[in-house]
Amino acid sequence: MGKFELMALPYEADALEPVISRDTISFHYGKHLAAYVNNLNALLPGSRFEEASLEEIVCKASGGILNNAGQILNHELYFGQFRGKEASPLKGGLVGSAIKRDFGSFEAFKDEFQKKGATLFGSGWVWLSADKDGKLVITQEPNAANPVQRGLKPLLTFDVWEHAYYLDYQNRRPDHLAALWQIIDWDVIEKRYRS
Ligand code: MN
Repeated sequence: MGKFELMALPYEADALEPVISRDTISFHYGKHLAAYVNNLNALLPGSRFEEASLEEIVCKASGGILNNAGQILNHELYFGQFRGKEASPLKGGLVGSAIKRDFGSFEAFKDEFQKKGATLFGSGWVWLSADKDGKLVITQEPNAANPVQRGLKPLLTFDVWEHAYYLDYQNRRPDHLAALWQIIDWDVIEKRYRS
């Protein structure tokens, strides 16, 4: 048993269908994320990060330790933001007001977020984060990078690695990104923003 454990999913493997299929969950969560956890646990013994938290590792490590820790942190935020049945809609709240303030409207925010996801070249993640003053920003992060590395608080993320959508959408990444809004649990995003 290593230091880090595979997170538990807060829903059943088929609960996000048809937006994300059971097959995709079984590979993306059951194989890819599980491998990142096993890899990191194998790399940590004897390193200077044996006692470090995941965020500390992501902010200070390099090489394989950084890549695997980054992917664990990213996927914990990703899989933790969905909701099985009906997504809880954006009901305003602090994050709803901040989206209106910083992007003009929820539709304008969605358009920019999807566009940044669709145009990210190669593998990576698109993020909504808050800066120290609570201002919201959308960023593209390559590979396993996370906005915490730049002092931002990550709130919402879409994974644009092909393993996140290829079984269900093949090359239609924009269609996958457009569908993800149906399963976002905005109560989770609001909690992250207030934390
Ligand atoms: Mn992934």
